[in-house]
Amino acid sequence: MKRALTPLVSLVLLTLSACAPRVTEPLPAAESPPSITPTLPQPVDATPSNSPEEIATASLTTSEVTHTSLTHYHLAVELNYAAKTLAATQTISYTNNTDLAIDSLPILVPPAEVEGVFLLTAIHTEPASLHTETIMDRAQIDLNFNPPLAPAQEVTIHLEYQLRLPMRYAAPGYTDRQVLLADWYPLIPPYLQGYGWLINPPGWVGEYLVYPLINFDLVFCLAPSPNNLVVAASAPVLSTQEGCYHYSSQEVRNFSLAISPYYQVTAAESELVTAWAYTFPEHAPLGKRAADLAIEAWATFTELYDSNGRGFLSIVEADMFDGLETDGLIYLSEWYYQTADPSPQNYLELLIVHETAHQWFYGYVHNDQAQEPWLDEALATYSELLFYEVLQPQLADWWWDFRVNTYDPQGAVNASIYEFNQYRPYINAVYLRGAEFIHALRREVGDPAFFAGLHNYLHTYGINDNFRDSTDFFSAFEGVSGADLTVISGDYFQ
Ligand SMILES: [Zn+2]
Repeated sequence: MKRALTPLVSLVLLTLSACAPRVTEPLPAAESPPSITPTLPQPVDATPSNSPEEIATASLTTSEVTHTSLTHYHLAVELNYAAKTLAATQTISYTNNTDLAIDSLPILVPPAEVEGVFLLTAIHTEPASLHTETIMDRAQIDLNFNPPLAPAQEVTIHLEYQLRLPMRYAAPGYTDRQVLLADWYPLIPPYLQGYGWLINPPGWVGEYLVYPLINFDLVFCLAPSPNNLVVAASAPVLSTQEGCYHYSSQEVRNFSLAISPYYQVTAAESELVTAWAYTFPEHAPLGKRAADLAIEAWATFTELYDSNGRGFLSIVEADMFDGLETDGLIYLSEWYYQTADPSPQNYLELLIVHETAHQWFYGYVHNDQAQEPWLDEALATYSELLFYEVLQPQLADWWWDFRVNTYDPQGAVNASIYEFNQYRPYINAVYLRGAEFIHALRREVGDPAFFAGLHNYLHTYGINDNFRDSTDFFSAFEGVSGADLTVISGDYFQ
């Protein structure tokens, strides 16, 4: 589906692409193909041009890595809550951090995956000397540069657009008591050395976007009447003025929000993190418990995994079918609140711990959520067990039975999201078999090497900085153990 861009500033030459839509259409639910071939990005045709110096410095420690030219997003947004529409002005300051000249810069537009939601009204780039051609094809804008954008050269992209939010149990979207904003603005995907732009299509299950670290500034205004609306966000509000909220985040994956007139707000704080819980009124008593638990989980994972460089978390009850992690904000289905008993043995507790762990395995380091979802999901799931082992070891057996064994999980741990069109088999293979695999790995190498390997995985920087793939995972453990990990993985991987 092509979409005309109007109006366009004069510097932009609009070309309608003649190629087929690049994003795979969702498959009919009635069909259950065992495998779906995703539309994968093509590897760059240039030879990976890692200089000897780059290779020599491929294993830097955290303190040695600086993100001097992260892409910076600056958004000014007005949400009309009553109309469920949003108008945005967005500036993206991008530096070509690759060592190749870029003749085409992709900008992903996740909200455009739902037809009729996203309307681009203007786009132009600076410097004006860049001759730019703009192509929008379904949910992606390609900016073609002539001459190409040289390594280290900067470009500023100005976008104006509107969102007409869809009514649905998902984000971005709304129900009669909330607006959820995740994956709601145009973004530049990661560029991996030796591979190219990492772009995935949506699947039936799981997440498909991959987020490089960014800096993000947002002025978020409610209009026309902000009176009773509560805004949850990925970062603490810096200032408020006349219905506008100012936020700023550095070195994060993304920025999400939730808005509702019904949210009850509770906070808890430690020396490591501030947690805000947003619950619907009927579950207000669970807000404090949620915030306290997140604080506890944060302390436990800081002890186990070291700091993740973050210090804020919003926990949002949502009209959603499950939980969803984003950087600094996690959504949890109201079902988890409805079914929470007073004990620690329920899904509300498990999911708060799980989503908190994602602030390490997703936030601090990141992976291809579509092709290798096990890297963050199996590790976040196994982190639930580690949390119980530390704080309530008598519940470890319960955790295995309740979370894993009852489902008799089957399937390949390293399956991609495209191999599933139902949620349960995906969870069983990637999350639960994934947890079994990590447990088998731990038993094979022993606790000291296991935790040293996890630390290596999180904190040893490779050629692609804070991005991880399965090779990085196994390298992290091979560095601390003489065990032949291929034997273990053979039982779990395809
Ligand atoms: Zn997860």
